Amino acid sequence: MDKKFIIAIDGSAATGKSVLAKELAKRLNILYIDTGAMYRAAGYYFVTNNIDLTNENIEANLDKLNIDLKYNSEGTIVYLNGEDITSKIRTEEISMAASDVSKNKKIREKLVALQRKMADGESVVLEGRDITTVVFPNADLKLFLTASIEIRAIRRKRDLAKKGQEVDIEEVRKSLEKRDLQDSTREESPLKQAEDAVVIDTTSLTNDETVDMAIKLLNERI
Ligand code: C5P
Repeated sequence: MDKKFIIAIDGSAATGKSVLAKELAKRLNILYIDTGAMYRAAGYYFVTNNIDLTNENIEANLDKLNIDLKYNSEGTIVYLNGEDITSKIRTEEISMAASDVSKNKKIREKLVALQRKMADGESVVLEGRDITTVVFPNADLKLFLTASIEIRAIRRKRDLAKKGQEVDIEEVRKSLEKRDLQDSTREESPLKQAEDAVVIDTTSLTNDETVDMAIKLLNERI
């Protein structure tokens, strides 16, 4: 395929965005940009430096945040100021810090600019909360993923267990609901379904079924 194209995916936490985006990137041989990882890196900076997440503190530290994504056979490597923090950002604490920091307008401007720069001239799949509405509203394919809270809690608990973190399913569920509420009711670029996005409910779909559906939709559009 010669023409460059953009696939934009949004949705709540643990709806299957990352699995879908990674698999699309692999099958189509295109770039994958995990924008949540960038907000996680920012959240990690404030947590590890013990800086309260006030707007004033966030804005005073903006220039100290050098976030970069690189890739190897394992997937995305997340760098913060040159340090590989990939294995440190998938905890419940950093999930919440990412959500807190992402409410700030200035940090969003900085990361959105970086995302657009990374995608420049590439065929790319990006996933996050504002990709279909703000970052690439004219993407070739726009998807909005949903899934029941029960299955999302099960998936998140399983992901954390794989990383050696044992968590209570009720706690996971509460934390997903809290983060969704915060992400969808904030003033800056809240999570919402773009009018022209295709909704995929992944509750009873396998990963392959979801990917096949997305590729079919893409082929209808490009
Ligand atoms: O996708 P992930 O769960 O890793 O994202 C972590 C947090 O980063 C989200 O809960 C959300 O608050 C924020 N985020 C965002 N905009 C994006 C991607 C993530 O606000 N494009």
